[in-house]
Amino acid sequence: MGEYVQTTKPYTKVVAVNLGSSSWTDVRDASVDVVLLPVGSTEQHGPHAPLSTDALVAEEVVREAAERCDAAAVLPTVPVGVSEEHRGFDGTLYVSPSTFRAYVSETLRSAPANRAVVVNGHGGNTDALGEACARLTRDGDMFATYWTWWEAVDLDAVDLSMGHAGAVETSVLLHLAPDLVDAPVDGADAWGEYAESAPLAYDSDEFTENGVVGDATEATAEKGARLYEEAVESLVRLVGRVADR
Ligand SMILES: [Zn+2]
Repeated sequence: MGEYVQTTKPYTKVVAVNLGSSSWTDVRDASVDVVLLPVGSTEQHGPHAPLSTDALVAEEVVREAAERCDAAAVLPTVPVGVSEEHRGFDGTLYVSPSTFRAYVSETLRSAPANRAVVVNGHGGNTDALGEACARLTRDGDMFATYWTWWEAVDLDAVDLSMGHAGAVETSVLLHLAPDLVDAPVDGADAWGEYAESAPLAYDSDEFTENGVVGDATEATAEKGARLYEEAVESLVRLVGRVADR
């Protein structure tokens, strides 16, 4: 069970502790109300974007949000997620939902606070995160919730739709890590293949040749900056709510 780390010194207001760059004494002396766990994937994002896209964006949203939160601690990013659907493309790594649930749950149970927000950058992780966070909360281990960055932003306002490695993700990458982006490309029109709402395809290489869904050529760094800021602001509000519980 994740136990709250009591400070041995008088209360110190800590804006953000990043576990990866802190010593154990830093963490001991910090006042941590909420831990933030970025989770992503290592999966194809078309010929123009890095395999680390989902982990990178989740980590960057967390990093900036934590700077604006009182008493939040940033946990190391989980880099491999539930992305077997991209197995047809080179370099894609994935674990089973049960492995992912167990890894996330055990990491959170050992974290230095009893409230957590899992910050997600990959759609395929969502079901497993919902199950893991509900279990932790129902079992009384801690309060845990999960949040996916693009669900918190207004895509209509920038005239974009989500897709995969399309204009939304590519815009945010052009803002955060332009050196990692090659010439964006157009991809399939829609995710998946269905008949009467039943899925006929389970892997993305069955419906997109280059790995992209949507048109990444519509991406701009300006739109990416706007989406990123919106996501950060949403996460800051959420952390405030969770800290008050
Ligand atoms: Zn992605």
